[in-house]
Amino acid sequence: MALVTLYDLNRDALGALLADEPRFRVDQLWEGLYRHASPVAEMSNLPAALRNRLTAEHPDALGEIRASVTDDGDTVKWLWALADGAQVETVLMHYPKRSTVCVSTQAGCAMACGFCATGQAGFTRNLTSGEILEQVVRARQHAAPRRVDNVVFMGMGEPMANFDRTWEAVERLHTDMGLSARSLTISTVGLIPGIRRMTAESLPVNLAVSLHAADDTLRDELVPINRRYPLAELMDACAEYVTTRRRRLSFEWALIDGVNDRFSDAEQLAGLCQPLRAHVNLIPLNPTGGFATRGSPPQRVAAFADRLRRLGVNATVRANRGTDIDAACGQLSAATPARPDTSVELGPTRRSP
Ligand code: SAH
Repeated sequence: MALVTLYDLNRDALGALLADEPRFRVDQLWEGLYRHASPVAEMSNLPAALRNRLTAEHPDALGEIRASVTDDGDTVKWLWALADGAQVETVLMHYPKRSTVCVSTQAGCAMACGFCATGQAGFTRNLTSGEILEQVVRARQHAAPRRVDNVVFMGMGEPMANFDRTWEAVERLHTDMGLSARSLTISTVGLIPGIRRMTAESLPVNLAVSLHAADDTLRDELVPINRRYPLAELMDACAEYVTTRRRRLSFEWALIDGVNDRFSDAEQLAGLCQPLRAHVNLIPLNPTGGFATRGSPPQRVAAFADRLRRLGVNATVRANRGTDIDAACGQLSAATPARPDTSVELGPTRRSP
């Protein structure tokens, strides 16, 4: 069972927890948790006895097993142990003008995409909203004084298969941490009921759909859930999202050598993008233990992107961050790294020698 942490509690529940305290303490605690993302032990406006009680009764959800750093300190991956021993990963990426944190919504994943390390490892359990939020909080604490500008739900797990808790985290990030809806992106393998629920919510976050194939035969193979939610229906759900929420839709496409990187694939993909004005994120397939086929070579990636652009599609090639610490797309599996020398105790900033 997951532990109930402070980030799992709403304001009323926190109020009940502080029933014996003056009422302004709830505001102080709430501000400390959300506006400042401070550890309770460092909330110096709270009396020490209260801080001690709160940390004893509601310890952090995430125990740091390991932090791995690369890209001169600009990419950090954490491996966390949850209270019941389940493990998840979080990745923080600093870019020149912004910082993004990639969070997990489940320990493992049940979607079974063969090319994804998380899918290869199988499903453990859903995360609570507090476990999802705390990943952002810990990344914020590490990033300071830089801000975390964007949160992408692209870590381990399928957010739409854990919709309620994911959405609770989205609302808290927006309302209490002050992140704009356009800085939040939910990525899904294409669970239509989840896309429809997102459409019904008023907060217009970005939607990313992991497409990888533009015909059902190939997609059935690469993304098995396609057998249940085939492309035509998926595109209808996407269209509804775009027209209702007026938010950019993007398709993720991991380029797999000789599998989905032909010009005919680009043309089929363009055909799906055009009516939706969808943006394409191309990701050269990252290597994982359970999938033998490799990513497309760089010239092929460039040619594929070029073909899409000539067809009027806005396509970007996603910079591959953190492949050397298995922190890149599709490489999160909570497995012990092959190269333990990349695991370090984090100091304020780490530079390569
Ligand atoms: N389950 C959700 C959230 C995970 S996002 C989803 O599938 O969208 C992780 C992204 O990385 C997805 O687009 C996924 O398809 C992609 N991915 C998975 N394995 C990959 C790999 N080996 N190389 C590159 N991208 C990969």
